[in-house]
Amino acid sequence: MQYQSYWHDTAPAFTGGQAGPVEGRYDVAVIGAGFTGLNAARKLARQGVKVAVLEAAHVGAGGSGRNGGHLNNGVAHGYADAKAHLGAERAQTLYRAYDRSIDMIEEVIAEEGIACDFRRSGKLKLASKPSHAAGLRANQELIAREVDPDTDWLDRSDLPAEIGSQSFHGAALFKKSGMMHMGKYLNGLAQASLRHGAMIWENAPVTARTKTRDGWELETPLGRLQATTVIAATGAYSAQVPQAPLSYFHKRIISMASFLIATRPLTEAEVAATMPGNRTCVTSLNIGNYFRLSPDNRLIFGGRARFSSVSDQRSDAKSGAMLRAAMQGLFPHLSGVEIDYCWGGLVGLTTDRFPRAGVADGMVFGMGYSGHGAQLSTLLGQVLADLAMGRTETNPLDGMDWPAVPALNGRPWFLPLAGMWFKLKDRIS
Ligand SMILES: Cc1cc2nc3c(=O)[nH]c(=O)nc-3n(C[C@H](O)[C@H](O)[C@H](O)COP(=O)(O)OP(=O)(O)OC[C@H]3O[C@@H](n4cnc5c(N)ncnc54)[C@H](O)[C@@H]3O)c2cc1C
Repeated sequence: MQYQSYWHDTAPAFTGGQAGPVEGRYDVAVIGAGFTGLNAARKLARQGVKVAVLEAAHVGAGGSGRNGGHLNNGVAHGYADAKAHLGAERAQTLYRAYDRSIDMIEEVIAEEGIACDFRRSGKLKLASKPSHAAGLRANQELIAREVDPDTDWLDRSDLPAEIGSQSFHGAALFKKSGMMHMGKYLNGLAQASLRHGAMIWENAPVTARTKTRDGWELETPLGRLQATTVIAATGAYSAQVPQAPLSYFHKRIISMASFLIATRPLTEAEVAATMPGNRTCVTSLNIGNYFRLSPDNRLIFGGRARFSSVSDQRSDAKSGAMLRAAMQGLFPHLSGVEIDYCWGGLVGLTTDRFPRAGVADGMVFGMGYSGHGAQLSTLLGQVLADLAMGRTETNPLDGMDWPAVPALNGRPWFLPLAGMWFKLKDRIS
């Protein structure tokens, strides 16, 4: 078994990074080379803006290269909750922004000729308990009435055509959702950004940010550059470099690990017995699971497993064993199947699980996708490019308040307590 992301291992590695020192003067400097930062850089470079990307590790080192590969449409919350929290207008705007993000991924793929196995698979939100079915169905019916007619309710008797598991009691189907190969999309985005004129430095963590007369100076171990505007696209990894330049986000982003395993490629018979519907699937428990087939028919199976802020080989292995048990619980016929990959990564949560984008602490920023950003990061990346050019009207999150989390400074010490609370909720609800 390999302890690395399936997406990293099965896509060509990006090789176009700058070899020389970090130097020069730019209109915009983007910190972070995930989907958000690369989409911002690509859009700016296409407009002839002089843009530099500084990445602490390598292209796709963060969540963008480590996720479950689901491009799920609509807000992750119950839609009624989103309306209650944000108001009807903003909830609809945000729901549609997620939908639009998937359209935008298709547009980017077509414009840049990126071969990344994109497919409108549809998503199933599966009721893990009989008591969950009524709530999921009411949510789907409200969504169908108000914002997304491309949804349906599937009864338990409809599920055998979709999924080879006896564990579910109905499902909401979201037909606009999709899936793709995350590593191939990342590499394609980075290559496209270069073609349009962006410069990308890998292994260049920004360790200091100093105000200058007409912008900012960013310092890295490879050198320093000047930029009129800085975009922070560092997401859950904002506190990985503990120094001051991103400290505004250390107090707001709760970084939490999520973990995945991938089986060996399943045979045709195993695919038919496991995922005949071949959609992205998410279960309804608070500490639930998400899974899909890879382009080469592996079952990619994820979940929070443990409430931890650490993803390293030890932590991933511990969670991987728990995920294997959960997978076998849902699909007992896969009990003997080898696990080829095990990995993890950090998701960047906000306290209300809605993302944020705007301008703060002298930077344009977009983050806080709360585990549901593989699609929205393409739209928000492009929104950040607009913000850097002084345009605010494309931002679906404009003006959303984002107070600091009391006692948070990069390390979310309270995660194990939250984990205990959600485990209890799953047992009693
Ligand atoms: C295990 C896992 C499963 C997930 N599954 C899904 C899913 O199935 N569907 C979904 O919609 N979403 C999913 N997500 C969330 C999704 O992957 C993220 O929301 C999205 O990729 C965020 O992209 P980003 O570009 O904003 O951030 P990232 O991809 O995290 O990129 C941030 C980058 O910033 C860099 N950085 C940080 N600090 C500095 C610094 N000081 N200087 C320079 N660079 C810096 C990091 O190295 C990193 O590469 C998952 C996430 C994880 C971890």
